Amino acid sequence: MFDWMIVGAGFAGSVLAERIASQRNETVLLIDRRSHIGGNAFDCYNEAGILIHRYGPHIFHTNAQSIVEYLSQFTAWRPYEHRVLSQVDGKLLPIPINLDTINRLYDLDLTSEALEGFFAARRERVEEIRTAEDVVVSTVGRELYEKFFQGYTRKQWGVDPSQLSKSVTARVPTRTNRDDRYFGDSFQQMPAEGYTRMFQRMLDHPNIKIMLQTDYRDVRASIPFRRMIYTGPVDEYFDWRLGALPYRSLRFDHITLDQEQFQPVAVVNYPQTEAYTRITEYKHLTGQQSTKTSLTYEYPTDVGDPYYPVPRAENEVLYKRYEALAAEVRDVWFVGRLATYRYYNMDQVVGQALATFGRIQMQLAAGASTAVEAAE
Ligand code: FAD
Ligand code: UDP
Repeated sequence: MFDWMIVGAGFAGSVLAERIASQRNETVLLIDRRSHIGGNAFDCYNEAGILIHRYGPHIFHTNAQSIVEYLSQFTAWRPYEHRVLSQVDGKLLPIPINLDTINRLYDLDLTSEALEGFFAARRERVEEIRTAEDVVVSTVGRELYEKFFQGYTRKQWGVDPSQLSKSVTARVPTRTNRDDRYFGDSFQQMPAEGYTRMFQRMLDHPNIKIMLQTDYRDVRASIPFRRMIYTGPVDEYFDWRLGALPYRSLRFDHITLDQEQFQPVAVVNYPQTEAYTRITEYKHLTGQQSTKTSLTYEYPTDVGDPYYPVPRAENEVLYKRYEALAAEVRDVWFVGRLATYRYYNMDQVVGQALATFGRIQMQLAAGASTAVEAAE
C-alpha cells in the first residue's frame, strides 16, 4: 500500500514526488507510461554521443528566484541565452522582431526611435485584443504578421491565428532595440548535466518507487494507494465523458550530420516555407564539442502524444467543465500542463507543483485536526 500514487514523471509529478517523499516522509509510487522519467523535458545521449532533447528544445528561463533555488538542489547550471533566427523572404532574421530584423528585412538604417514611428504607421487599430492575430497586427501591422506569424502559427496549431487566444502570440515580444535574446527573463540557464540527470537526483529518495512503461489505466484497479497526483490529460482521466479536449502534437525527426555545425544558432524558424516549423541544433544549447552535430525537425500534427493544450475560447469552456469534475474527486490533485490544460513553461509547472504541495500540506493538516476534534 503506497501513501501516494503519482501519475506522470514530468516536472509536475517529479516535483510533487520529491516534496511528498522528503517533506511528508510518505511513500510514493511514481508511474509513467513512457520508458523514461522527465516527461517532455527528457534528454539523452544519442548514438553519436550528443545530448539531445527527445521532445524538442527545452530552454530553462524564469523570473522566479524561488524556483531557481528549489531546482538548484538537484542541478548546477550552465549560462545560456537563447537566440532564434527566422527564415523570411530568403533571409535569416532575428525573432522576436527587433531593430535589426526590420533594418535587414527592408534594407533600412532606422534608429530605435524611427522604428517606433515605422510600427505606428503600420499597426492596425483593434477595438478589443482577443486573438493571436490581434496581438501582432495591433503591434507591427499586417505585413510583418503575415511574414513572421501567420504561416508559422497555422503550421504549429493547424488553425489560423484568428482562431487562437491572444495568449499564444503574446508570448513573443516585439522590440525596438537590438536585444536579440528570445526570452527577457532574469534567469536563463540550462541544467549543467542535462534535465534527466536533474530528475534522477530529484527522485533519488528511499520513499520513491518508480514504475515506467506503466499506464495508470492498466494499474488503477490493482495497485492500492491512499491519495493521488494526476498529471496526464484531464479528459482522459474522466474517460472523455464530456468530449475530447484538443491537444496539439508534434512528430520529431532527429538526425545527426557528419559536420561540426549546421546553423548559426540553436533554433531556426520557418514561417513561410517547409512542412516543419523549426530546426534545433543541440550543441548550441549544451556547449558540447563534437565533430558531429545533431538536429531535430518538428512537424506539427493532431495525432500522437498530447504536447500542447490549444488555447481557444471554446476549449477553455470545455476545460472548465472538466475542472469542475476534478474539484469533486476526493484525494486526487490535478497538476501540470495536461491535467490543468495550461500552455505552461517548465518554470510555471514547477511553481504550480510547489503551490499544490503547499495546499496539500494545509488541507491534510486541517483534515487531521478535524479528525482529532471528531475523536475528542
Ligand atoms: P509532461 O512533461 O507532459 O509530463 C506528463 C507525463 O505524464 C508524461 O511523461 C506522460 O507520459 C505521463 N502520463 C500521462 N498520462 C499517463 C497515464 N495515463 N499513465 C502514466 N503516465 C501518464 N518549456 C520551457 O520552459 N522552455 C522551453 O523551451 C520549452 N520547450 C518546449 C518544447 C516543446 C516541443 C514542448 C512540447 C514543450 C516545451 N516546453 C518548454 C514546455 C514543457 O515541456 C512543459 O512545461 C513541461 O514539460 C510540463 O511538465 P508536466 O509534468 O506538466 O507534463
Ligand atoms: N510564433 C510565430 N512565429 C515565430 C515564433 C512564434 O508565429 O517565429 C507564434 C506561434 O503561434 C507559437 C507562438 O507564437 O506557437 C508562441 O511561440 P513560442 O516560441 O513561445 O512557442 P513554444 O515553442 O515555446 O511553445
